[in-house]
Amino acid sequence: MSLEHLATVIDGKAVAAQIRAQVAARAAALAERSVRCGLAAVLVGENPASHTYVRMKRKACAEVGIESFYYELPAHIAQAELEALIETLNARADVHGILVQLPLPAHLDEQRILSLISTAKDVDGFHPLNIGRLAMKGREPDFVPATPAGVMRLLDAYGAPLAGAHAVVLGRSNIVGMPCALLLTKRDCTVTICHSRTRDLPEVVRSADILVAAIGRPQLVQGAWIKAGAFVIDVGTNRVPDPSAKDGARLVGDVDFEAARRVAGAITPVPGGVGPMTIAMLLENTVKAAERSLR
Ligand code: NAP
Repeated sequence: MSLEHLATVIDGKAVAAQIRAQVAARAAALAERSVRCGLAAVLVGENPASHTYVRMKRKACAEVGIESFYYELPAHIAQAELEALIETLNARADVHGILVQLPLPAHLDEQRILSLISTAKDVDGFHPLNIGRLAMKGREPDFVPATPAGVMRLLDAYGAPLAGAHAVVLGRSNIVGMPCALLLTKRDCTVTICHSRTRDLPEVVRSADILVAAIGRPQLVQGAWIKAGAFVIDVGTNRVPDPSAKDGARLVGDVDFEAARRVAGAITPVPGGVGPMTIAMLLENTVKAAERSLR
């Protein structure tokens, strides 16, 4: 009888549930001090995915006792009008966190809008100052973007040895890949960032003790690319056709899960890995903002 190796499956749902429970307790403690934790969600235009994300975030807020203030704005809104709303939200004492759902319609200056959000209310962590602090030695941002923060929390929850490890991050986006690489660097990993122009991706991936895949390419990373015992965090969320599924499609990650789990030490599933962590970390950032407002 052969005993086949199977990696530990990292349970993002369970870790996220713990974080939500802690957030609910912290929000309740604030309520006892007459502070109702509040998150303003700003949604511009008709993008169906953005509507779904904002709905999920508001529902999650309600479940942990965070009040959400919702601003649904027409796609043609003028830059000045959106800027005025941000300024109003910055000034409101009952709004502790502000999130502007991205992407914004093309005529709006996204960078300028994100720069206007008070860094103390920047619970998405996308303000250039917060990203800059993330990149600097000895500096800490007020907030870390939710998905990368969730990646780090999963690595910690499962005891990944980070100091000195070689971490390979696939993807260099502002919201996932780059902040993940910066966070891993802060935790003393030696980091390699890969992107669409990287030569011999399989060879680079083979040297990873920690692999974070955030490229949006269904199951591109094959089992044979994974180093034995590696920690594999799959951020990718890709819909692929599946005639056996109710709506004709299913979600897969950027990694071939079934093959990779035969080699890796620990691996996140898709769904149920990083996905649930993203909203949990946004909630944690919001309650943190409210706690800091009391100082
Ligand atoms: P993105 O902005 O499209 O960035 C993708 C990155 O992957 C880019 O840096 C790109 O390189 C690189 N890339 C694309 N194809 C590649 C290839 N064949 N080989 C190597 N690198 C390649 O995507 P994103 O917003 O970072 O999201 C990445 C994935 O994570 C998506 O599947 C997204 O749905 C998912 N996601 C999940 C969550 C969650 O909560 N679970 C949150 C956010 C995103 P270049 O820079 O050279 O173009």
